[in-house]
Amino acid sequence: MNNEMNYQNSEGTSLWLENLIDGTAGMRIKARHAVTCSASPFQKIEVFDTYSFGRILVLGGNPVLTEKDECIYHEMISHPAMLMHTVPEKVCIIGGGDGGCLREVLKHECVKKATVVEIDHQVKDAVETYFPDLAHGFADPRTEVIIRDGFEFLNSAGTRWDIIIVDSYDPGGPVQSLETASFYSLVADRLEKNGVAVFQTDSPMQRGEFFRQAARNIGAYFTACKPCLCMMPSFPGGTCSFMVAAKEEPLLAGFSPERYALIEKKCKYYNKAVHSGAFMLPENIATLLKP
Ligand code: SAM
Repeated sequence: MNNEMNYQNSEGTSLWLENLIDGTAGMRIKARHAVTCSASPFQKIEVFDTYSFGRILVLGGNPVLTEKDECIYHEMISHPAMLMHTVPEKVCIIGGGDGGCLREVLKHECVKKATVVEIDHQVKDAVETYFPDLAHGFADPRTEVIIRDGFEFLNSAGTRWDIIIVDSYDPGGPVQSLETASFYSLVADRLEKNGVAVFQTDSPMQRGEFFRQAARNIGAYFTACKPCLCMMPSFPGGTCSFMVAAKEEPLLAGFSPERYALIEKKCKYYNKAVHSGAFMLPENIATLLKP
């Protein structure tokens, strides 16, 4: 999401976080105060305490998650793919050093190894300090954290994965974007034949052209891909999408009720109805995907 974060200090102490799309429309979130402001070699790293969304993590001027609704994003980037797969044991998460996606993946008992590949260790450090509910997956014995560029890691590691989740989308962010055809091709190559990949594809309402292009580019390297939508109250446009892709089309229609029953009580947003509803597209979004 191409957001611009302006911190407006009106008179007195109030601090407004403006989360805009292309500088023209978006959200205003009133903050009590800044919790920390630092910078890594890659990006500014800030945390704010807000009245309506709890703590917010801002990377490179982009708000990437809020305490109030990060569960929606991290449940929806993880569980649809995890339950489509017959038995995901090896999971790779590119980006997502905030631990949210990792936390959700580890809810699945069948996972034997979850590898987080995060380019900026200071993101993980900030989350461990200020967002403990996001960070507890890092202590899980199944977790491996690699501090490295996701493209380089996948390119050099010969491993094939059951699930690859790309949670590094941050357009306009300071790190070289991974949303390229060569990266999509690499992800497809590093996925097991019966594997499932997930890519964050922004808000189709606000960034329809990006969404359309991403669907085409991802679709070129997988046999099938389909978008799933979720509401994201803290996102300027209120919606977010994830492209779920596989080399074997039938996988995308899969759903394991037995394994869903094991995580059902651990989810705040995701459930069986949301799983199927998320893939039902409104006409204006379905039209974006038509050739
Ligand atoms: N989970 C977040 C959320 O809830 O919106 C989204 C993740 S955040 C926008 C992007 C993360 O990916 C950041 O931690 C960033 O440092 C990391 N990242 C960006 N580019 C990367 C790359 N090329 N390789 C590895 N990590 C990357």
